Amino acid sequence: MNGNLTLTILKPDAVANGHTGKIIDHILQAGFRIKAMKLIQLDERTAGMFYDIHRERSFFKELVGFMISGPVVPMILEKENAVADFRELIGATDPAKAAPGTIRNLYARSIEANTVHGSDSDENALREAHFFFSDLETL
Ligand code: GDP
Repeated sequence: MNGNLTLTILKPDAVANGHTGKIIDHILQAGFRIKAMKLIQLDERTAGMFYDIHRERSFFKELVGFMISGPVVPMILEKENAVADFRELIGATDPAKAAPGTIRNLYARSIEANTVHGSDSDENALREAHFFFSDLETL
């Protein structure tokens, strides 16, 4: 299935603001299928492991603090060309720069509280899918 999967997380701002239903609908309308989904509360260690690649960045501590500030909804999504199409659907990291109609443009408030995560490569999509859904045997 490599190439057809991506991993998203509806971040704490999306859940706290009651936007999860609208965002999930937006994702489904764009042709993605939900292969796995759950609502969880991350702890500091798990959030730090997920964002390990950013450990040396100035905003790492803030980012982890934000990601554990409330529940999140990780999902495995399936669609042809999933990674690139989903990145297009969510828009730029900074919502002020996200194209009109993208999820971050519609729902995000800041570069940190930017509502959704989207994998940036097929390799990371698989790694991230297993990170959250280690119980799924075949992806
Ligand atoms: P993404 O692939 O669009 O999610 O962006 P990155 O991989 O560059 O960054 C990961 C996450 O870190 C982003 O989604 C934001 O939540 C957060 N982030 C990125 N840049 C900044 C920043 O300058 N300040 C803060 N506080 N958070 C940031």
